[in-house]
Amino acid sequence: MNEKNIVIIGGGQAASQVATSLRQKNFMGDISILSSEGYLPYQRPPLSKKYLSGELDSERLYLKPEKFYQDQNINVMLNSYVEEIDRGNSKLTFSRKNGEEDTISYDNLVISTGTSPRLIPLDNPNLKGVHYLRSIEDVEGIKKSLIGAKNMVIIGGGYIGLEVAAVSRKLGLSVTVVEMASRILERVTSPVISSFYHSYHESQGVEIMTSTSVNGINGDLNVSSVETSSGTIEADIVVVGIGVLPCQNLAEKAGIETNNGIVVNEFCISSDSNVFSAGDCTLHPSAFYKRDIRLESVHNAIEQGKTVASSIMEEFVPYNQIPWFWSDQYNLKFQIAGLNNDYDEYIVRGRPEDNSFSVFYFKDGFMISSDCVNSAPEHMMSRRFIFNRAEVDLEKLQNKEISIKEVI
Ligand SMILES: Cc1cc2nc3c(=O)[nH]c(=O)nc-3n(C[C@H](O)[C@H](O)[C@H](O)COP(=O)(O)OP(=O)(O)OC[C@H]3O[C@@H](n4cnc5c(N)ncnc54)[C@H](O)[C@@H]3O)c2cc1C
Repeated sequence: MNEKNIVIIGGGQAASQVATSLRQKNFMGDISILSSEGYLPYQRPPLSKKYLSGELDSERLYLKPEKFYQDQNINVMLNSYVEEIDRGNSKLTFSRKNGEEDTISYDNLVISTGTSPRLIPLDNPNLKGVHYLRSIEDVEGIKKSLIGAKNMVIIGGGYIGLEVAAVSRKLGLSVTVVEMASRILERVTSPVISSFYHSYHESQGVEIMTSTSVNGINGDLNVSSVETSSGTIEADIVVVGIGVLPCQNLAEKAGIETNNGIVVNEFCISSDSNVFSAGDCTLHPSAFYKRDIRLESVHNAIEQGKTVASSIMEEFVPYNQIPWFWSDQYNLKFQIAGLNNDYDEYIVRGRPEDNSFSVFYFKDGFMISSDCVNSAPEHMMSRRFIFNRAEVDLEKLQNKEISIKEVI
């Protein structure tokens, strides 16, 4: 078990964590990471934040320096796109940047292919100035288009779109966010939070158009405007952030069960017991919410990476985590714990107008989720309350004068 040959597909947060955790557990076998990207595993969150604004340089994006992988004998194969999984022969076919094909065999396979942006249908998909944001290369493209740009249109009022809006306002662009739903952040949070962020962005000069759909993007060589159900908006740069889709094709073609992600059990084992999966691409059981969920967060990628490493070592520690996530916009640190989809009650602590407040969501009397704006202690404590199903005194919780530690 300690001498197996492990091949990991995908060079992101989860892949790096699987390899690191295996070595931490004194795994002695071979570890290869095959990544379609030309960069060592890096953190994506700064891409729409300090890396886009130019406050963080690329060196600081990398999860580990090259020397780490060398010292740990982890074979990172960049620009290696896996084309096919042959489960019968336990091998993969992959193509290199120069188009050459090669194969690699495995004893255990880990699929950590993440997600890819949902694409907007375009008459001219080669129009310059239209961007998605998932990788370092995407940001380099955006930075080029930003030179001399004045008007940015962001399609999609989710986290990535709003983070880009915040950075772009700081860079002096005129910014319009076009959102199809009736409010921004609709998929992920409550009206209280949506309304706060809507007002805050407007106070910073961002125009937000909700209940507005995009009918097309105009331009000859470069983008010139965006056609919407509420009229035409001038644009010399467009960033599309309308969600992501799990990269599951490889698994699907190989006959591994998928369903809005690669289906895994609590040990991150797929429908093939030799194949594990971690990160954004998995659909996994949540012990707490008692349903299958797919998450797009650093925390999940790290924790599932650790779970996969344990399972490969046959330690079998079930994945049992309360999800958490963050988003930085302007000077607002937004921290989210848990999932609030089906709350039946919520409590607001603090005042939105102070730019520091929290919303706690309850179901059947138990806290299931929290959204905290510039309120780190509330976020940290709520993660414990949720996990432990703590009995929270709602009156105390509402009173910001009472320490968050004293509300149970
Ligand atoms: C702009 C942006 C901002 C974000 N901000 C936050 C945040 O603030 N907080 C937070 O918690 N999360 C944030 N996230 C989400 C977070 O980055 C992801 O949840 C995390 O990166 C998931 O890690 P992963 O390893 O599952 O996938 P990824 O990091 O996406 O890695 C997947 C890798 O697999 C590679 N790959 C795919 N298919 C193949 C193939 N066939 N062959 C070889 N390689 C392949 C991809 O190229 C990629 O390198 C953000 C994401 C983005 C894009």
